[in-house]
Amino acid sequence: MLGDESVTECIDCGLQAGYNRAVVDTALGRELGGLCFRCEEREFGRSLGRGNWETTVGCAFCDRDGFYALPEWKPYCEDVDGRRVCKVDYRVDEATLRLCDEHFSCLYDGPPRQGVGSQERDDRRVP
Ligand SMILES: [Zn+2]
Ligand SMILES: [Zn+2]
Repeated sequence: MLGDESVTECIDCGLQAGYNRAVVDTALGRELGGLCFRCEEREFGRSLGRGNWETTVGCAFCDRDGFYALPEWKPYCEDVDGRRVCKVDYRVDEATLRLCDEHFSCLYDGPPRQGVGSQERDDRRVP
C-alpha cells in the first residue's frame, strides 16, 4: 500500500485524484494537487496523453508561458536492499505538458473545494 500522504485531491472536482496527473506551479515550485482521470477526460478528452509536448515551449494551447505543469504519475520499481519496491512518481521536465494561467484557470478557479460529496456547479448560463 502506498502512504496516504501522497494522495492528492483533484484541483477541479476536489475528489481524490488518484495517480493520473499532478498539477505543479512551476513558478513557485509547489504542487497544487492532482487532476483526476475523469476531469482530464471531460476537459481535454484523450488529447493530453496523445500529444507530444517535447516540442512545445510554454502553454500547450497557446504561445504564452506555461507556468503550470501537469506531469503524469509513472510507476517505477527499484531494488532496495535486495527487495523490489514499486512506487509512483512524476517528473517535471521539458517534455511535460504545461498550461498558461489563462488556460489553467479553465480548470482551477481557486483553492480546492471543501466538502467532498457536494457536486455543486456554477451555472454560467444563468444571467
Ligand atoms: Zn477531478
Ligand atoms: Zn494558454
